[in-house]
Amino acid sequence: MNEEIVQLTLLQTIDHEIDQIDSKIQEEQDALESKSGEVAEREATVSALEQKIDMLEKERRTLEAESSDEMLHVKDRQSKMMQVQTGREQAALLKEIEDGKKSVKEKEEKVVAIMEEVEQLTADIEENRNLFKGESELLLEETETVKKSVAKITKGRKTKEKKRAAQAKKLKPQILKKYDTLRKHRNGLAVVNVLDGVCQGCFMAIPPQQYNLLLRGDKHFDCPTCQRIMYHEPLEEADE
Ligand SMILES: [Zn+2]
Repeated sequence: MNEEIVQLTLLQTIDHEIDQIDSKIQEEQDALESKSGEVAEREATVSALEQKIDMLEKERRTLEAESSDEMLHVKDRQSKMMQVQTGREQAALLKEIEDGKKSVKEKEEKVVAIMEEVEQLTADIEENRNLFKGESELLLEETETVKKSVAKITKGRKTKEKKRAAQAKKLKPQILKKYDTLRKHRNGLAVVNVLDGVCQGCFMAIPPQQYNLLLRGDKHFDCPTCQRIMYHEPLEEADE
């Protein structure tokens, strides 16, 4: 095989290894971020429950104040009953008293319902607070673990980077620049094999004439479709 291609494929192998290291780091950090998001969500749940309770307590106080005012009004109407003369006036007062009592009763029922709801919400808060505490502690531990793991992986990456730099030196600056640009724009794959006349980067057929030249193994070309640097190596060898 063409010497330049040999060196390029070696470089690409190292670059793939570095890419894998990078995605491993990314994976660890993503997992941690997702857990951190869950903990934040738990905290938001607690805060939402607290707000709901505040709102309900406010509503309860309003209902109690209104109901107490209505009770006073009922008592006032009751005392006025002694003073009225006509049956019509009496009937009107009685209606007012009944309506007042009914309204007070409804409000008291609402207050009881609110108190029950607050009790349930308080239990929910307690449960979520406990979960939050456990999850926060776990997150702290996991943050430490990931930090150590990433540090270790990064150390390995540095070794690979040195290897990469040494390998890059074996290539002419011009071809190296082309390789780097291709890798950047072609999803990390710059040098590709051609099998049965098909570019293994974009899977498009290349002109037969070019394929015949590639088969000789001493030259490399750019794929007319994806511009990747093409070479030919039979599959058995490529699999090794
Ligand atoms: Zn191609």
